[in-house]
Amino acid sequence: MISLVKPSVSGKEAKAASHVILSGQLAQGEKVLMLEKDFAKYCGVKYAIAINNGTAAVHTALLAIGIAPGDEVITSPLTFVATANSIIMAGANPIFADIDSRTYNIDPKTVEKLITKKTKAILAVNLYGLPADYSKLKIIAKRHNLLLIEDAAQSVGATYKKKSSGNLADISCFSLYATKNLMTGEGGMITTNNSNYAGICRLIRNHGQSETKKYDYKLLGYNYRMSDVLAAIGIEQLKKIKTFNKKRQQNAAKYTNTFSKINGLITPFVPPGSTHVYHQYTILVTPSYHLTRNQLQQFLIKKGIQSTVYYPYPLYVSPHLKKGKRLANYPVTEQVTKSCLSIPIRPNLNNDELNYIINAIQST
Ligand SMILES: *Cc1c(COP(=O)(O)O)cnc(C)c1O
Repeated sequence: MISLVKPSVSGKEAKAASHVILSGQLAQGEKVLMLEKDFAKYCGVKYAIAINNGTAAVHTALLAIGIAPGDEVITSPLTFVATANSIIMAGANPIFADIDSRTYNIDPKTVEKLITKKTKAILAVNLYGLPADYSKLKIIAKRHNLLLIEDAAQSVGATYKKKSSGNLADISCFSLYATKNLMTGEGGMITTNNSNYAGICRLIRNHGQSETKKYDYKLLGYNYRMSDVLAAIGIEQLKKIKTFNKKRQQNAAKYTNTFSKINGLITPFVPPGSTHVYHQYTILVTPSYHLTRNQLQQFLIKKGIQSTVYYPYPLYVSPHLKKGKRLANYPVTEQVTKSCLSIPIRPNLNNDELNYIINAIQST
C-alpha cells in the first residue's frame, strides 16, 4: 500500500534526540530555545514560542490576545476539529463562515455577514497548505476592530504576497504533529511580532509562572511545554523543510499537469501571489467525472493507493459545534465535503510510486 503519510526522518533526527536523552536535560531547555530562534527566523517574525501541540498553541494564542468567555470567533467549518475546539477551550463560541470555492479557505464575503457585537476575532486556517486571503481579511478586521489569527498547522513555509506563513496575522499557530510538513511527533509553535502577546504565551505555557521569578504566578496557565528531546528533532527538520516543501510542490506540479486534463476532476488552485506547500494534495471529484468520489477511492485501494477525505463533514454538524451554524446555508462547504479526496503527496514518495499513482488515476 502506498500510504498517505510517512514522516521524513533520518539518522539526523535520531542522533539529535538520543544526544538530548543521554545529556539528562529532557524537559524544556536550551534545545527549545534554539528551535524557537530558528523557527522565528524561518518565518521572518520577531517571536516564536514552542508549545506541546497545535491545539494548545491555538488555545494559548487565543488567550494571549484576550479572547474571553462569551466572545465570538469566526472561523472555517472545513478544518480539523482542533481549530474550533480551541475557541471553546478559551470559553468563546466558534461561528462558521462559508469557504471560497477555489481555495477552500474561509470566504471573506461570508465573514462580514456574521459579525456581531460579540465578535472579537477571525481565525483563518491555511487549509491543505495554502494561505487564506489575508489582505481581504485584514480589511474586514480593521473595519470592525477585530483581531486576526492564523491557524498555520498545515502551512509551514507557504507564502502570501512574499510574506511567510506565521507572519500573516496578529498571531499564528503551528502544529508539529507527526503527519505535518515539519514534525516533532507531537508539538506546536506560536509566532507573532507582538512582544506583549509573546510574553503572555510564555507565561501561559508554564502555569502562568514568571520567567524570572519562580512561584510568582501572574495568571492562569497550563503545562503546555515542549520537551528538549522533541525540540532537537524539530531543529533537524527545520534544516530540511525547504527541500521537503519543494518536493511536495514538484509532486503536485506533476499531478496537476495530468489530472487537470481529466474531465470532472478539479485540481488545487494557487492564487497569484501565494505559494502552496501541499500538506495535502486534494482534488475535487465532481458529478461530471465518470466515477463517484467513493468509487474512485475504492478503485485506488484496489490499486494499493491510500487516499483520505479531509474532511467528510463540516464542523457545524458536530453536536458541540452546531450553535456556530449561523449562515442560512453553506453551499461551498457542502459541495467540497462531498467531493474532496486527498492523495499521497509526501516528499518521500519515489518516482515509481508517483508515476504509479498518476497511471492508476489515468486508467480509471
Ligand atoms: C493538526 C491541526 C491542528 C492541531 O494540531 P495538533 O498538534 O494535532 O494538536 C489544528 N489545526 C489544524 C488545521 C490542523 O491541521
